[in-house]
Amino acid sequence: MNFELTDEQRMIQDTVKRYLRENIGPIADEYDRKGPMSKKDAHKFLQDLKPFGYVGTLVKEELGGPGLSHLDWAILHEELRGSYASLGGVVGITSSSTHGISESDNEDLVNRVLPDLLNGDKIACTAITEPNIGSNAAGIETRAVLDGDHYVINGTKMWISNGTIADYVVLAATVDKSKGPAGILQLLVEKEVSPFESREIKKMGVKSFPTAEIIFEDCRVPKENVLRRPGEGFKKALRGLTFARCNAAIASVGIAQAAIDAAVRYAKERTQFGKPIGQFQLIQEMVADMVAETDAARLLAYRAFFILDQGGTARKEGSIAKAFATEAGVRVTSKAIQIHGAYGLSEEYPVERYFRDARCYTIPDGTTEIQKLIIGREILGMSAIV
Ligand SMILES: Cc1cc2nc3c(=O)[nH]c(=O)nc-3n(C[C@H](O)[C@H](O)[C@H](O)COP(=O)(O)OP(=O)(O)OC[C@H]3O[C@@H](n4cnc5c(N)ncnc54)[C@H](O)[C@@H]3O)c2cc1C
Repeated sequence: MNFELTDEQRMIQDTVKRYLRENIGPIADEYDRKGPMSKKDAHKFLQDLKPFGYVGTLVKEELGGPGLSHLDWAILHEELRGSYASLGGVVGITSSSTHGISESDNEDLVNRVLPDLLNGDKIACTAITEPNIGSNAAGIETRAVLDGDHYVINGTKMWISNGTIADYVVLAATVDKSKGPAGILQLLVEKEVSPFESREIKKMGVKSFPTAEIIFEDCRVPKENVLRRPGEGFKKALRGLTFARCNAAIASVGIAQAAIDAAVRYAKERTQFGKPIGQFQLIQEMVADMVAETDAARLLAYRAFFILDQGGTARKEGSIAKAFATEAGVRVTSKAIQIHGAYGLSEEYPVERYFRDARCYTIPDGTTEIQKLIIGREILGMSAIV
């Protein structure tokens, strides 16, 4: 077992750390207060971050992508989420959706849309959740009915990250609800070709990471845009969810580490009773707990990414990492506020943003409760969800 990053990974880490510290960290609060990121800003950031491998990170080199590993992704995203979590969300969802598209066996479609995505010229999202379908993703109600050369889509998707700014939607829909998961396919909806309505949903954290309701009303999508046939569509969505869970875990680690750095800085500067508050044992206890939880979360996340790199499913390990890291993120960022006293609640310090951002990660990609049921199923061989 080797706990060391390779020289190349350390170089990636150092390079992005420096770039993000100088260019992204200082503008994060200002951008976040502006609310959901505009498409123009998202494009600009994608261009800026492309040279580091943030765009289409996992897409194979032979397809024109950076061809980086899952562990490389973890390193890139831990740093970006710590600097500006919302931006990490915008970039991460585009990048993971792009990877999902690149793995389709519909070569014509992949060859046509991939270059723009890899250039950072197009923004993508992945749409599974619906108003009535959250944890029970297998129950998808959005219909895809074949009519000549098109699928006609009717239904509403909820909580779709990047939904208001996306050019491409990787859509899960059913051709026959009575078939359950076997009826679910994945289609690529191109907004220019198959227009749809979207509405921004305002939320408490990751405020400049757009989240949308997307409404499909008789939306005609060419049948050439099938990414995965019925049945395959659901299996792929589940595999994508495992990766998304690892990603939520590393996002939480990045945010938690940023909160630790801020709390340590503050504990050294702030004096009460004639000494820096960092000298008080109860402050040191909080710092120790924050560091131990974040270290444990990081190791769990890295293990899950490592298993994905080895070709494993990481079904159990991804859920363990997601459940632990996202809940730890909430505890750690809350303690960072406590160490800052009243200043921790003010917008003058970034820790209130870290707390709001971390709070958003225990829900997507399967809530903490759902992760525990997955872990239980993997250990016991019995499913609590019928
Ligand atoms: C910031 C954010 C970004 C998101 N991005 C996307 C996206 O890009 N694409 C997408 O498709 N979706 C996205 N989602 C949706 C997300 O995946 C769902 O919110 C999530 O799966 C939970 O569904 P729900 O909110 O409907 O909660 P529900 O499923 O209604 O759950 C409500 C409560 O009941 C609990 N519960 C449900 N079933 C059980 C059970 N069997 N046993 C015990 N407890 C249970 C849950 O844990 C939760 O506490 C996003 C959500 C958020 C918050």
